[in-house]
Amino acid sequence: MDKYVIKTKSSESPDSDKTTKNAKVTSSTVSAKRKYNDEYIEFAFIPSKEDNSLPVCMLCSTTLSNEAMVPSKLRRHFEKKHPLYINKEKSYFENLRSQLYNQAKRFKNLCTVPEKAQIASYEIAQLLAKKKKPHADAENIILPSLEIAVKAMIGTQAVERVKVIPLSGDTIARRIQSMSDDIELQLKEHFANNQDKMSNLWALQVDESTDISNKAQLLAFLRIIKDGSIQNQFFFCSELKQTTTGQDVFELVNTNIESRGIKWENCISVCTDGAPSMQGRKKGFVAHVLKINPNVKIVHCMIHREVW
Ligand SMILES: [Zn+2]
Repeated sequence: MDKYVIKTKSSESPDSDKTTKNAKVTSSTVSAKRKYNDEYIEFAFIPSKEDNSLPVCMLCSTTLSNEAMVPSKLRRHFEKKHPLYINKEKSYFENLRSQLYNQAKRFKNLCTVPEKAQIASYEIAQLLAKKKKPHADAENIILPSLEIAVKAMIGTQAVERVKVIPLSGDTIARRIQSMSDDIELQLKEHFANNQDKMSNLWALQVDESTDISNKAQLLAFLRIIKDGSIQNQFFFCSELKQTTTGQDVFELVNTNIESRGIKWENCISVCTDGAPSMQGRKKGFVAHVLKINPNVKIVHCMIHREVW
């Protein structure tokens, strides 16, 4: 009897129906488990990795009970909890599933290094990126400094713990790339999932800069409305290949706008410096923007204006 009670409890989740909980379950119903059907992917459900008789929602990671493994219940969760995804095609969820499986594979590899060391590695990579320092600094300067500091302050044993933080140049480059990909994905999702007009609005800030190898780089930031507040997001940094005319700047910006599914009709403002390639009335970057959307408010950057 104990066995039976434990088995029934473990197969139930808070989501399962009260009527089912109270129902008199016989041993035959316990063994007759509902099986996952590939069609359930259209409600964003996949079988749980731990127990494939339980459905897991890919969007919120909720695991439902085996009793809920029927289209009506899965659909109810899907429509109630994730209304933004209702119009998505089946292929969207199939892609999501393969991304999840790939992530799980990668995560398994990462787990060989302690979680805290992974976090430290990511945070150091972020710091180097923000301070624009070479990736090799992590291995050549930061790690030796850490070892000196913890040896002096905590002891030799602590040095061994610090040594496991992955800080090679390649690792730092990979971390920065994956954080950058994540920012890009968040931006794509923001514009793909938004149904209301306000959240689709955006403003753009662009500026040119020259890197240490004398190449022209274009930096762009977006201002969007997310979770009810105004947020600034890094948009992209790309090299201006040959010339730096208004047309070149526009083409580069436009490629990035279109690849992320952002619409010019929702652009409310563009902010640039006063350079002719940006502000030029006929051929400047803003002239190209105004051709597409004449309602965009053009702002001359305050900080640049102070300098000029
Ligand atoms: Zn869900």
